[in-house]
Amino acid sequence: MSTIFAKIIRREVPADIVYEDDRVLVFKDINPRARVHLLIIPKKEIASMFEVKPEDKDLIAHMMLLLPQLAKAHGLEKGFKTQINTGEAGGQEVYHLHIHLLGN
Ligand code: 5GP
Repeated sequence: MSTIFAKIIRREVPADIVYEDDRVLVFKDINPRARVHLLIIPKKEIASMFEVKPEDKDLIAHMMLLLPQLAKAHGLEKGFKTQINTGEAGGQEVYHLHIHLLGN
């Protein structure tokens, strides 16, 4: 089932996109909890960390390697936080895998 994030990827819903390549999209969280609050999402529709498969390992590594680059590009040279909410008990609201990148 398509989520709001899939609609953002397809440009059916607007978002403040700060980075894009062939595998990922990065945009500002609509309800920021810090001065910088970005969401890093794969273009592939993966519902959560529970659905990540071994064949996704390069994609996941790509997302992880982007984090410090994005942080530096947004003025977070001194450090940043990341969060991946997974499943109902993990507080996940949008069932399209995403990494929160937060920093002040
Ligand atoms: P989760 O709890 O699933 O990890 O977090 C989902 C995040 O997506 C929340 O921080 C929420 O503010 C953000 N979000 C939900 N809908 C939209 C949207 O339409 N646009 C943007 N930019 N962020 C959204």
